[in-house]
Amino acid sequence: MQLKIIQPSESSAKEKKQITSGQEKILEKQGYRLVGNHSAVKICGWTKNMLNGKGGCYKYVFYGIRSHQCLQMTTSMFCASRCKFCWRGLKAPVSKEWYGPIDSPEHIIDHAIDAHLSLLTGFGGNPKSTQKLLDERKDIRHVALSLTGEPITYPFIDQIIKSFHKRRISTFLVTNAQYPEQIKKIDKVTQLYLSIDAPNKSLMEKIDRPLFPDFWERMEKCLDLLKTRKYRTCIRLTLIKDENMTDLEGYSQLIKRGHPDFIELKSYMWVGASQNYYKVENMPNMDEVRNFSKELLKLLPEYEYVREHIPSRVVLLAKKSLKKKTWIDFPKFFKLLDSGKSFKSEDYCSRVIMPNK
Ligand code: SF4
Repeated sequence: MQLKIIQPSESSAKEKKQITSGQEKILEKQGYRLVGNHSAVKICGWTKNMLNGKGGCYKYVFYGIRSHQCLQMTTSMFCASRCKFCWRGLKAPVSKEWYGPIDSPEHIIDHAIDAHLSLLTGFGGNPKSTQKLLDERKDIRHVALSLTGEPITYPFIDQIIKSFHKRRISTFLVTNAQYPEQIKKIDKVTQLYLSIDAPNKSLMEKIDRPLFPDFWERMEKCLDLLKTRKYRTCIRLTLIKDENMTDLEGYSQLIKRGHPDFIELKSYMWVGASQNYYKVENMPNMDEVRNFSKELLKLLPEYEYVREHIPSRVVLLAKKSLKKKTWIDFPKFFKLLDSGKSFKSEDYCSRVIMPNK
């Protein structure tokens, strides 16, 4: 595959884009804004909540991500799985590998921030918002690379992460564990997530409906890589009642293999296209998430229960060696990056919230 970066002034009309104009229209109606040829932003509900004085997301409570200063986006619209619990639906493209033009990292960041701020323009007059939060919203301090598709497939994923860091924007990257070669490319990211959607191969095939025939081996490779990463790592389980809340032994083996700093156990949410496959009853309540987490913990002696966020029905487990220092010390993270020296995840973990200012 030939990689060609597209500059803002270049026309790419002749090249096949990642989504059709029909798909683009549907996504725009759903609140997305397409950025360049393959990226998109959408205002996270928690960004709006924070600006409306209703509190931050669970990543604010767990790690100190300031939701009103968070840019939710993706650098790729396609995905290599067709997960039944995903809300985006099969209208979104699926592919095993990258196709279409490639925008430059700086172009994506500039235009993503512009699109994000323009979507938030209407919040200026909300009487429930404090002026301080409204002013701060223009100063993006965090990016959550997830939203839709597989952002990690962007050929310049490491370069864009570095560009975000140069702007003092922290980075969370979520992947469904199908692209080990892309994980290898990433030098440093504030926190890397692997979504592990099932405890064994047959259940993963049923739930994720992956395109890759070697999906399980790919996931195993990603777990092996996760274990070697020096930055903060997290495994996220999306719990679907009567579907994947089973085989605790299977989950524990996968988690031990990846040896992440953190484990999030989160309830499946009955929204969007996932309603075609599941019922509202498939959402576990907070007690069920809590109990499942405690049962899993019995098989993971290196981890402990740290905290939970009831509105999102999510529990956080962390390595005992971190001594519950789950918050990110952002100033330290950027200082360590600037130093050019190697560092470990513990080096930028904090016992208190350390805002990224
Ligand atoms: S970290 Fe995730 S949930 Fe929190 S504000 Fe950002 S996009 Fe939303």
